[in-house]
Order: sequence, then C-alpha cells, then structure tokens
Amino acid sequence: MSFETIAADFYGFESSLTDQEKDVIVRLRAFLEEKVRPVANDLWAKAEFFDRDVIVKGLADLGLFGQPWAETQQFPNSAVFRGWVALELARVDASVATLVGMQNGLVMGSIAVAGSPEQRAEWLPKFASGELLGAFGLTEPLSGSDSARGLRTTAKRDGDNWVINGAKRWIGNGSISDVTIVWAKDVDDEQVKGFIVPTSTPGYSAKRIENKQALRIVQNADITFTDMVVPEANRLQESKSFRETAAVLRLTRAEVAWAAIGNSIGAYDAAVAYSKERFQFGKEIASHQLVQELLAKSLGNITASIGLVTRVSEMLDEGVQKDEHSALAKEYAASRMRETVAWCRELMGGNGIVLDYGVMKFFADAEAIYSYEGTREMNTLIVGRAITGKAAFV
Ligand SMILES: Cc1cc2nc3c(=O)[nH]c(=O)nc-3n(C[C@H](O)[C@H](O)[C@H](O)COP(=O)(O)OP(=O)(O)OC[C@H]3O[C@@H](n4cnc5c(N)ncnc54)[C@H](O)[C@@H]3O)c2cc1C
Repeated sequence: MSFETIAADFYGFESSLTDQEKDVIVRLRAFLEEKVRPVANDLWAKAEFFDRDVIVKGLADLGLFGQPWAETQQFPNSAVFRGWVALELARVDASVATLVGMQNGLVMGSIAVAGSPEQRAEWLPKFASGELLGAFGLTEPLSGSDSARGLRTTAKRDGDNWVINGAKRWIGNGSISDVTIVWAKDVDDEQVKGFIVPTSTPGYSAKRIENKQALRIVQNADITFTDMVVPEANRLQESKSFRETAAVLRLTRAEVAWAAIGNSIGAYDAAVAYSKERFQFGKEIASHQLVQELLAKSLGNITASIGLVTRVSEMLDEGVQKDEHSALAKEYAASRMRETVAWCRELMGGNGIVLDYGVMKFFADAEAIYSYEGTREMNTLIVGRAITGKAAFV
C-alpha cells in the first residue's frame, strides 16, 4: 500500500515525513479503517471502551506507545510525525486518539520526565507493549485549571512508604487502568509529587463518571484514595515540585492541538461526502455557493492549524518550544475545531445531528478536547503572560 496525503491536507504537509514514518502512517490508517471505524459509533452510543485485546494491543503492535522515549523508541522519529499520528487517529475517532495521548504522553511521559533511570527501565516497556494500561491523575473535584497550586490530595512520608489521601476527577481510564500516575501534595514540604500506583493497591477506589456526552468511549473516573500506602520506590524519583508535572503537560499539549485538527477533519470529510450525495433544488448541495463557503472556511481552518502545529512540533525537536508556544497551538487549533465541526454539522441540516451520518460524534467530542489539557482561557492566559510579562491568573 503506498502513501498518499489525505485530501484535507490541502498543502501536502504530511508528504514531508520520512519513508519510515509514512510506512507507519499507512499501516495505522489500515488498522483504523479495519478495527476502529466500524465499531466507533456503536461503542460511543453505548459509552463502552474498546476491546482491549484488539485495540490497545493493536496500537502497541504498531509501535504507537513509546515512540518519544529512548527506552521504547523503535526508530528515530520526529515530533511532527507523532503529531500526524494524533491527527490520523482523531480523524477516525477522538477517543482512540485520547487513549494513545494518555498512554504514550501523560503516563509514559510522566515516568520518562520524572522517573529515575531504573523506573524508566522497569515501567516504560510494559506500557509500550500494552501489557499495562495507564491513567494520569492530576485533576480533582475542587481543582481543575488551578491544579498548579490547588491540589488537595495529600502524601505523607511514613518510613519507606507514603500514605496518600484525597480524590481525583475526570481521570481517563481511571476505572480500567492497571496503573495510575497520581499527583499529590507532600504535606511536609507542600510540593507536588508524582507516584506510580497500581490500581490494585488497597485504598484506591474508582467509579466511572456516568452520562458524559463527549468522548463517550473514554472511561473517565472519579477516584478516591483512603490511607493508600505507596512505597517510596514508586515515587517518581525526579518529581520534586509541580515543575515536573508542567513539563509533562508541555509535551502533550501540542499533540492535543494535532488531535483537535484530526477531529475537525473527521467532520469535514463526512460533510464533503454528504454534500455530493444530498440533492436540493434539483442539484447536489455541493453545487450551492453557500455550501461551498462552509467547506472552504472549514478547509481554511484545518490548513492554517496544520501549519501552526507543524512549526510548534518542529520547535519541540529543536529544543526551543516553551509553554506559551504549545498553549497558543492548543488554543488556536481547538477554537478553529469548534467552528469547523459546527459548520460541518450545519451543512448536513437535520441529518447532521444523527450519529450515523458521521459528524455528530466529532461535534460532541470537540467539546471535551476544547476543555482538557488546558481550557481556552488558561491557554490564553499563558500566551498573554508571554506577551505582556504579566501573569493574570486570578
Ligand atoms: C473528557 C475529559 C478527559 C479528561 N481527562 C483527564 C485525565 O485523564 N487526567 C486529568 O488529570 N484530568 C483530566 N481531565 C480534566 C481536565 O484537564 C479539566 O477538565 C480541565 O483542566 C479544566 O478543569 P475543570 O473542568 O475543573 O474546569 P474549571 O477549572 O473549574 O474551569 C471552569 C471554567 O472557568 C474558567 N477559568 C478558571 N480559572 C480561570 C481564570 N483564572 N481566568 C479565566 N477563566 C478561568 C475555565 O477556563 C473554564 O472555562 C479531563 C477532562 C475531560 C473533560
């Protein structure tokens, strides 16, 4: 099977990937068409997780977990390639993109950024192979945007152990993961630290959040920790303050921007196809000027966003990407996504709100992508601080 850029990549950005990277993209597309697209709407409607043996194992076999990290990297690859992986996943289903983003970025990223060499060697291969499914526990019932200073979950050192108490909310995979990375405030020095917590640990209790109407395949959970004892060996050894947590989020935020574009393309592709099938006033709606305008505006949003995220990923590889760069990319791509999925929904008239017509899942999932990994407001404030030198987080 040979590589072709997708129609929504209007300027052909994806053609700049290496042959090896293109080969992975071709195999990923085939996997998604065969294993994910046929089941995505049904699982979404039922709010059920993927078949782990098929999807988590299949993504692991494609080598999608662990590409950024030395211990698990299968071949040299760029941040732009990993961005394209996120886009390709999300244009079929944003939940599968979220699954890879959590396992590869937030979970393995926490261990890669804040773990000791021994912890990296012990844990990363198990996540890379899909043997372990991970979750990332930062957000709390009373602390979302202000998690840098608002965490209430506590960790108290007790000899060779830590005792953790508190609660987390919104944790993706939290009720089905084997291991959850838990961020808690050390009561002695008041600094945030990360812990590798097997979910079988006594005191760990997770409950799925019901009636969620976006990213319904992702199993988000409320978690409580009651006198949960975690060995010092499971504390991320280089995690000394929220600085390390922020470093993980900096790595993953730009990839969420890529996923936002993929989610837009999923809706756009369905809208283009529908415009050629639906007839009104005696001709296909694709030949009505105002319908073409919706498509052209959508493609403009997608194309501008790809240009932006391509550069921000290059900056990561060059070692010059800062918080404000990934914040601007996420804010911009997510805002353009929200416009785009609405235009694509509008183009379909009433059928646009029916899941089977292929836009509604992307329309609803856009709302979750818009708010996680930093809301529009938080990312705007990070950029505003860089512009003015004034922090306006009040
Ligand atoms: C589907 C989904 C999956 C998620 N997965 C995970 C996960 O795996 N792990 C995890 O730890 N978290 C996860 N989250 C949590 C996510 O990161 C938070 O929802 C997000 O950070 C926002 O926090 P919040 O929902 O508590 O909103 P809040 O912080 O309560 O914000 C509410 C509103 O107030 C605005 N606001 C807050 N402060 C300011 C201010 N200073 N100035 C201007 N506006 C402000 C916000 O921008 C927002 O619009 C997930 C969330 C969702 C929806």
